[in-house]
Parts: sequence; C-alpha cells; structure tokens
Amino acid sequence: MYRSAYLNNLLSEVKEKYAGQKEFIQAVEEFFDSMDFLIDKEPKIVEYSILERIIVPERIITFRIPWVDDSGKIRVNTGYRVQFSSAIGPYKGGMRFDKSVNLSILKFLGFEQVFKNSLTGLPMGGGKGGSDFDPKGKSDAEVMRFCQALMSELYRHIGPDTDVPAGDLGVGGREIGYMFGQYKKLTNTFTGTLTGKGLSFGGSLARPEATGYGLCYFAGEMLKTFKNTDFKGKKVLVSGSGNVATYAMKKVRELGGTVVGFSNTQGYVADPNGIDVDLVFELVAKDKRKIISGYVEKHPGVKTGSCPRDIWKTPCDVALPCATQSEINLENAKELKSNGCYMVAEGANMPCDLEAIRFFNENGVIFAPGKASNAGGVAVSGLEMSQNSQRLSWSFEEVDSKLHDIMVNIFKNCHETAKKFGVETNLALGANIAGFMKVYEAMLAQGVC
Ligand code: NDP
Repeated sequence: MYRSAYLNNLLSEVKEKYAGQKEFIQAVEEFFDSMDFLIDKEPKIVEYSILERIIVPERIITFRIPWVDDSGKIRVNTGYRVQFSSAIGPYKGGMRFDKSVNLSILKFLGFEQVFKNSLTGLPMGGGKGGSDFDPKGKSDAEVMRFCQALMSELYRHIGPDTDVPAGDLGVGGREIGYMFGQYKKLTNTFTGTLTGKGLSFGGSLARPEATGYGLCYFAGEMLKTFKNTDFKGKKVLVSGSGNVATYAMKKVRELGGTVVGFSNTQGYVADPNGIDVDLVFELVAKDKRKIISGYVEKHPGVKTGSCPRDIWKTPCDVALPCATQSEINLENAKELKSNGCYMVAEGANMPCDLEAIRFFNENGVIFAPGKASNAGGVAVSGLEMSQNSQRLSWSFEEVDSKLHDIMVNIFKNCHETAKKFGVETNLALGANIAGFMKVYEAMLAQGVC
C-alpha cells in the first residue's frame, strides 16, 4: 500500500505513542489510506496540522464508578467519555457497557463517530463513552444502581449543547432510562441530553429500528448503483442478533431478500432456505443467551456451530456484519468471496480488519464502511434531538422517511466523492473524505483551538 512520507511518519508516531491501542491504530490507518488521495490537493491539511489535531480527542474523562451489588458487596468499574471533536456540533455518540471496554476501543469508536456524524449532514460532533461493566447476568436493580453511579460523575461533563450520549453495545432503552433519570435529578432539568430515550419521555419513534433499517437502505443503494438490482431474491448473511442485526434481518425480509444466517457470542446458525426472522425476535425477547439452542430446537435441520466466525463460510450474495469489531479477518474475507459474496456493508463498527477491507477492494467485493452504512442510528438520534428542542414528536413514517433520505444522501455523497477521486467503488475512501471535509473546513474557520 503506497503512503506518502508525511502520512507514513505520522502513522509511525501514532503507532509508537499509542502502542497497545490496536483498534484505534487500525481506525487511524484506514483513514490515512484515504487521506493520501487528498493531502496534495489540500495543502492546508499539512500547513495547519489538521491531521495531527484531528487524531487526538479534545478531552478524555476517566472516572471511578463504585456501586453496590444485590449481595451488598461494593463493586468498582471504570467509566470513560471520549469527547473527540466538537468542530461541527456538540459531542454525540453512544455509551458502551461491556467487559472488553478500554480506551483503545472507545478512541476508535469516537474517531469514527466524528466522520459518521458529519456524513449525516446534521450538526453533531463526535464522542463515545462507556464502562467495563458487564450487564450480562446482572439484576435490574444492579443495572439501575450502576447507571446512577456512573451518571453521578458523568452529568458534569454533558448537556444538550455540550455532549449528548446515546446507547451502544449493552446500553439499550433500560440503561438510557436509568441514566436519564439520574441526570434529571442531579441537574434539575428536563432536556434532550441523552438520546434513545423511552417514548413517554422524549424518545423518537423508529430509533430502535434506525441502524438496521438504515443499513439496508444504504445497501439497497449499493445494489442499485453497482449491480443494477435490489434485495429481491438475494441471500443475505447477517452476523449478531442484537439491535442492529435483528432490524437489519427484518428489513432484508421486507425488501424481498432471504436472511441465510445469524450469530451471537456462542455460535451461529445458517440456513440456505431462509432464517425464521420472527422466531429470532421471539427468542431474543425471551432470553438472549439461549437463542442458538432455541432456534436449533425448533429447526433441527439447520447448520450450526459454536464458533461465531464460521458463519462467514456460508454461501451468500451480500454480507452484513452487525455484531462487533474485528469479526471478519482476511481468512473470513477470502471465504466470503469464494462462496459467492460480492457485497459487504458494515452494520457494526469496524467489523472488518484492515486486511479484509483491502482484500475486498482488490477483489471486486464492494465494501461499505460502518461510518457510512451504519449512520442511521445516530441520524435518528439527531432527529430525536431536533424533536426534543422543538418539543415535538414525529410519526414513525415521518422519521423512517427522513432516515431513508439521509441514508440515500450519505450513499450519494460517498459515491460521488469516490468517483471524483477516480475510485468509484471505494466507498471507504468516499466516506472518509466526504466526512472529513466538513470537519476540516470548520477547523480551519475556528482557528487553532
Ligand atoms: P447489541 O448489544 O444489541 O448486540 C450485539 C450482538 O452481537 C449480540 O447478539 C452479541 O451476542 C453479538 N456479538 C458480540 N460479539 C460477538 C462476536 N464476537 N461474534 C458474534 N456475535 C457477537 O448491540 P448493537 O446491535 O446495538 O450493536 C452492534 C454493533 O453495531 C456494535 O459494533 C455497535 O457499536 C454498532 N452500532 C450500533 C448502533 C445502534 O444503534 N445500536 C449504531 C451504530 C453502530 P451476545 O448476545 O451473545 O452477546
């Protein structure tokens, strides 16, 4: 891979300074792959040290979260908020609760969020946060006490015009509700400071569906533009079985495609005749931990296994990785290609390793990066902020239609930008440059700050 001396040196510095932050380094490296096309055309990038600045978060807050479990034992977790860029609006990005959470993961997510939010066309900066708290196996009361303890510190750093957190892995409506309640109590205000709220207190219709539906709207544009077709009759492999994955499955089915697989941390299920999407929803609602065994019990003929990565051996036309980061490595990418897959659109954040992305680009598999294709969630969060500030609430159809338009626009923006740089199918490049330009212009206008 060619890289200019300037970017090469900068990348070496990043690798040395943040050694050990492998997810963050991958996000920066992938971004620099695209910047190589731009820096000669935009000399102010180097002159004003834009890249040196843009890769460093404006602020990182790290804090202790002591809470009491149901047996009376005091537990301690670490909380983070990475306020990456406020160049084009208040920081905006989800909170992740998972035992794997660390600064590298939150920095990579926050960095990607900056460009994703810019691509939506809404005035939102980028941020991310979370904790190494593992909600699995915790009681409702424990989750509530943990959320309250977290917010007892976080409330001083956020606000409707400062930083508006949302959900992510492990943080759904329940957790947002508990955090919102504590924020409201501590600040004595009722504002749209968190998004993903319940409908009775300022939430937006279609927020749960937004990322999965938005992904399919984006992937539909890819099919139309590059293959002159649509989802009808296509075999679509969806990994994960959480919020993004389940609504992606539902929309794929609605658009005429056949979902041929899903997974979770305990394994996968594949069926060329089509996954029973209603049953997946039913099983998820009952007990997430038992969905693989529950599904196999009802459909004993399906292919299944305990290694989630084996899902990528399933023949398909389109793959929508919707579980987590780094779920497709080079070997999985090769398996997908050799089994007929010609299009991959990321529903999760950075599910594909850099080698996998390069393989797709060099081998005719059209690839869409999460920062563009999964932007539907944050787009509807932005719409929730608008509804909150106007004290309005739009119908499901209204929000869904705005979501559809935003996703089509993001696709067009990425595609046209990639075309302008002579690499029409390189949507990663299109997304990086299109997302970057708005932030870059704002940074130039705002001076050194
Ligand atoms: P959920 O917590 O709802 O679901 C995550 C799903 O992925 C679960 O089914 C989980 O399984 C599964 N999973 C986790 N790790 C693995 C693995 N290594 N292999 C296979 N399956 C795995 O999260 P979301 O659906 O909300 O988020 C999924 C991804 O999408 C994340 O990367 C998130 O950052 C990204 N995203 C989410 C948005 C949103 O609106 N929710 C917006 C934009 C991006 P198990 O149940 O066993 O843990």
